[in-house]
Amino acid sequence: MTRSTTRDAELRERAAQVIPGGMYGHESTKWLPDEYPQFFSRASGARIWDIDDNEYIDFMCAFGPNLLGYNDATIEAAAERQRRLGDTLTGPSAAMVELAERFVALVSHADWAMFCKNGSDATSMALMVARAHTGRSKIIMARGTYHGSHTWNTPLKAGITPEDRANLIYCDYNDPQSLQDAAAQAGGDLAGIFATAFRHEVFRDQALPDPEYAATARRICDETGALLVVDDVRAGFRIARDCSWSVVSVQPDLSCWGKMIGNGYPISALLGSDKARAAAQKIFVTGSFWFSAVPMAAGCATLDHIRDSDYLERMVRVGTVLRDRLQQQAASHGYTLRQTGPVQMPQILFEEDPDFRRGFCWTAEAVKRGVYLHPFHNMFVCAAHTEDDVRRTLEATDAAFEALRNREPTLGPVEKLAAFAEMR
Ligand code: PMP
Repeated sequence: MTRSTTRDAELRERAAQVIPGGMYGHESTKWLPDEYPQFFSRASGARIWDIDDNEYIDFMCAFGPNLLGYNDATIEAAAERQRRLGDTLTGPSAAMVELAERFVALVSHADWAMFCKNGSDATSMALMVARAHTGRSKIIMARGTYHGSHTWNTPLKAGITPEDRANLIYCDYNDPQSLQDAAAQAGGDLAGIFATAFRHEVFRDQALPDPEYAATARRICDETGALLVVDDVRAGFRIARDCSWSVVSVQPDLSCWGKMIGNGYPISALLGSDKARAAAQKIFVTGSFWFSAVPMAAGCATLDHIRDSDYLERMVRVGTVLRDRLQQQAASHGYTLRQTGPVQMPQILFEEDPDFRRGFCWTAEAVKRGVYLHPFHNMFVCAAHTEDDVRRTLEATDAAFEALRNREPTLGPVEKLAAFAEMR
């Protein structure tokens, strides 16, 4: 199997001169096996092509934004129509109101919407609304959960001060007692409780929200007047055609969205109930590109598709087949996989792999064979994945298991993960 990596290597070298570390953030391959390409050239449906034109079935979906398929014809047509009219202007277009109307119609707790660019904008805005609403400071969130890269939540310590986190109180996800303890610690100063849609941290098994935990969060907020915030930036519309906590029958006061709401176009949103409307009006938040019309037009088309199609049921079907067959395949090679989280957002870890050496080797072997998996982050199924993609994926993973078995005696600890030690 020969795979060219020449152009990727050349770009990495050039990037190292002009971009700190050559690449940063969640799409950096510095934490991935050497076989992963850093640079890509194009995408279509569930496929991506790296800069050397190697093709992959992509189970990362741009880390979430690709919900309906890359370059989906309907979404692209809506974006193109708006692009011909204008994008970033002196004021918003009608698409802003149309998108807010669609969100309010689709997401049952929402009475209003505000738009921004990234998930981190939406979560920081939620934090401000909760404080403006209550006049209080403290925010409860689960230990280890990711709500974005702003200073109050960025996972690494470089560049932040203790003051950035002074008003955060941590609890354990899905542990109602620790939530109550955190609320007691906040005393009369609780502004809000942040909750991820489900537990989807890197390096660990995922967990769906426990109904009692969700109900406890709601009850504490009702009793104290604090606001309940569900962070749906990663899981939005992959769990439900509503806020993800609708599956445990809990309605938040605020919900944060991003990634997939424009099927890849840059837009995020904070949704809120009437209770939080006055506070949302008080805060000053904005950005040069927040009101650009093209992503909003793409968002309208994406939400229409979400409302009208069986995209979600198809993702669940494909994800279920993938999970079942992978489990059997792993067993036939003498391995046990820990597959957790919803099937449409799979986390795949190896049993007895505390330093991730097996996962690293197996995913590297899959990448070499045209299947892009992730060794420690949850993955994403999109509506363009087909059962045929799963069949091809399984051919690659079968060979990857065999290669893992052969390489097993030579594997050592994954040194690249040292930077994550403080998170794990
Ligand atoms: N919240 C959650 C749950 C996320 O997964 C992310 C991004 N991975 C964010 C917030 C931040 O979103 P963004 O990277 O678009 O700022």
